[in-house]
Amino acid sequence: MQNQGKIGESQWTILKLLKWTASYFTSYRIESPRVSAEILLAHTLNLQRIQLYLNHDQPLIPAELDRFKALIKRRVCGEPIAYILGRKEFWSIELEVTRDVLIPRPETERLVEAAVRHLPQSPGIGPKRVLDMGTGSGAIVLALASERPGHTYFASDRSISALELAKRNARRNGLDRAVHFFSGDWFLPVKRQGRPFDMIISNPPYIPTEIIPGLQPEICRYEPFMALDGGADGLCWIRHIVDAAQRHLNSDGLVLLEMGHDQKEEVEKIILTCGGYKQVDFKKDYGEKYRIVQMVKK
Ligand code: GLN
Repeated sequence: MQNQGKIGESQWTILKLLKWTASYFTSYRIESPRVSAEILLAHTLNLQRIQLYLNHDQPLIPAELDRFKALIKRRVCGEPIAYILGRKEFWSIELEVTRDVLIPRPETERLVEAAVRHLPQSPGIGPKRVLDMGTGSGAIVLALASERPGHTYFASDRSISALELAKRNARRNGLDRAVHFFSGDWFLPVKRQGRPFDMIISNPPYIPTEIIPGLQPEICRYEPFMALDGGADGLCWIRHIVDAAQRHLNSDGLVLLEMGHDQKEEVEKIILTCGGYKQVDFKKDYGEKYRIVQMVKK
């Protein structure tokens, strides 16, 4: 860096800047430093990542350098890349994300995968009624609606700004006619719906309150507390959903939930105590941890 001059001088080419930024990120212990540098620089220059290499000796103009510097600063302060870019890939769709919603995670794609198996490809005369609770960015319901069109999808969230974002994401992916959105707390908005569902799916907040401040800054300083906080033992919303979902399901209706990697035993107890379900099945995430539970209403 010393020999190359300061960031801000115009001899910075794409390649030099990538190298410098990757090592700067490394010194701040930023995950995947090189890829992060590439993503942010590509975003600044409005290029695809591959184009950075095709134009590696292109110098940056001062305005581009300024924009890039601002993004580097945000990342070094801990802001996740998805919030900086304002978007995140999930399943096969692109979602707008803001600090009003949780950034959709790969673990949640496992939940979608499990749900897809229960939704016929051609609904024909028997479309299923599917409810995604605490939809946030709309990740789960929009992935399902894109993968299994023709069913009837509903999604709710208590945060109005999250719901507005989920609606924008539906429009952005051409799915606004496929999903009905409701605002309100858990089952409250669907009470007015009357008719029961065939599937209730959710990635509820499941982190114990007192653990949240100790999480990585990317999470605890930037993601919405409300989307993380599962109460004193982390299980308060899972308990609530397991208990209430049975009153909103058709017989043989399915509940699919994401949970914390160390919550299997507790969640199993909650389901058995409730007594309303059969065929309780836990599934692992890519890291071999139990992350998903599905159960069928008796
Ligand atoms: N359903 C959204 C997701 O899975 C939001 C979940 C949440 O806010 N807890 O990304």
